[in-house]
Amino acid sequence: AKRAGRNNLQFYTPALNDILIERLSVEYRLRQAIERKEFVLHYQPKMDFLTGKVNGAEALIRWQPEGGEMIPPFKFIPVAEETGMIEEIGAWVMREACAKAHELRERLGRDIPIAVNVSPRQFGQPHFVESVRSALASVDLPPHCLELEITESTLVLDARKFVDTLHELKALGVCLAIDDFGTGYSSMAYLKDFPVDRLKIDRSFVDNLEQEPAKKPILNAIVALGRSLGLKVIAEGVETRYEHDHLRSMGCDELQGYFFSRPLTSEAFERLLIEPAIV
Ligand code: C2E
Ligand code: CA
Ligand code: CA
Ligand code: CA
Repeated sequence: AKRAGRNNLQFYTPALNDILIERLSVEYRLRQAIERKEFVLHYQPKMDFLTGKVNGAEALIRWQPEGGEMIPPFKFIPVAEETGMIEEIGAWVMREACAKAHELRERLGRDIPIAVNVSPRQFGQPHFVESVRSALASVDLPPHCLELEITESTLVLDARKFVDTLHELKALGVCLAIDDFGTGYSSMAYLKDFPVDRLKIDRSFVDNLEQEPAKKPILNAIVALGRSLGLKVIAEGVETRYEHDHLRSMGCDELQGYFFSRPLTSEAFERLLIEPAIV
């Protein structure tokens, strides 16, 4: 038995160690990244189907280590969530997005609402609503210029409690969107109780639509559901003309995706708003 145990250990230990070491080093580096201000936000424009124009953007975090390559969020957001560091990172994202929305408002003389992603742990913090209020106040931003994207799977974690949080946020005046709608856990039982403005259809329902027409009935049903609840419906991950045309004919309100624009640096996003034709 002992020998078998040793064999097991020999088999499993290196892999487990690798994971732990990798995790600890990411945690350590995340802490440093906050101190060294290595995070940046990119902005992916949202297009209004009716006008064909940009009517807002989603802020997406990137990690730019000194002298290294840009690190995408899927490589560090889950660790940040597990270690609790997401609370600090999330607060930074919120302040930075408010500052950007404020800056655009001053420079362009119109409102370009910015949406931020809120992670489950961040949303569940007791002082979350207060942190949103203070981020708005820090730059004197009208609340409707900030949108919070909260995933459907976050909301169902504690739907009863989170309905109250949503109402508090709604009272504050910020816009609310259910993100990644249709994936994983269903919030169907609570959907009508969530005081949200937008339903954001997950990319997986749109991706490869032309090659996979079986996706259409589901996509169509989600768009119809959102509309019948009186919500704005936005599709993400729209890459092709075909997908664009189909969503428009379904009555989808807004589009986000490579077909219209990739996520842009802060400067490139501002240029797009000033001179749409050159990007
Ligand atoms: P998400 O909220 O679903 O964001 C959309 C993701 O799809 C982004 O990936 C975006 O770059 C990508 N995308 C947009 N259009 C297209 C398209 O046409 N085709 C394809 N293939 N992809 C497209 P990104 O920036 O890598 O972010 C991944 C995820 O990381 C986000 O998914 C979100 O869950 C999370 N995330 C990003 N920024 C933050 C943040 O500041 N805070 C938190 N908590 N999570 C964030
Ligand atoms: Ca999102
Ligand atoms: Ca998504
Ligand atoms: Ca595709």
